[in-house]
Amino acid sequence: MSSDNHHSALTELGAELLEQSDVKVTRCYQCGKCTAGCPLAGEMDYPPSLVMRMLQTGRPELEEKVLRSFTIWVCLTCEMCFARCPMSIDIPKMMDQLRQKSLLEKKTNRKAKEIIAFHKSFLDSIRYTGRLYEIGLLADYKTRTLKILDDMDLALPMMKRGKLGIFPEMIKDRSGMASIFRKTNKKHKD
Ligand code: SF4
Ligand code: SF4
Repeated sequence: MSSDNHHSALTELGAELLEQSDVKVTRCYQCGKCTAGCPLAGEMDYPPSLVMRMLQTGRPELEEKVLRSFTIWVCLTCEMCFARCPMSIDIPKMMDQLRQKSLLEKKTNRKAKEIIAFHKSFLDSIRYTGRLYEIGLLADYKTRTLKILDDMDLALPMMKRGKLGIFPEMIKDRSGMASIFRKTNKKHKD
């Protein structure tokens, strides 16, 4: 538990999330709208509303499960849940904080290793080409998505419909983008 009086009702992790992402887990009343709207809920070990519930309990073993979950790496930060949440809980930002903490504490999910490596490999590739601006573009919107969906034919239409929120100029150049992903994927496998 946090010793900070201001966060006295929250666990240490709950207090951290409040401080870093302005998410107060106790505000969630389990309506389930986030999970219903999450395009990746089916790929997750715990859908977003369950993550909220697990964090609300304040039970260390459940917090540990969240930090070790696949969910936090599958999340695309697409903000669908945030848009639907009646309590305006910024789940995407919270997921970001959970990812950072998971990395810092070396608790990353085994299944997520590829996603993390792929992500890093992609960043390296962008750095190498000097196209720094695109780090934010693609690294964040998410190379790992394509890895998870493992199917450009599925991922690209999702992007076109705005589901994955990638910038339009990147969508137009489908072959160029496919080639970037092929190269980074190959680099990761080598
Ligand atoms: S931000 Fe993450 S948790 Fe929220 S809807 Fe998108 S993928 Fe799901
Ligand atoms: S939409 Fe908001 S209030 Fe509803 S379950 Fe999700 S986080 Fe909780």
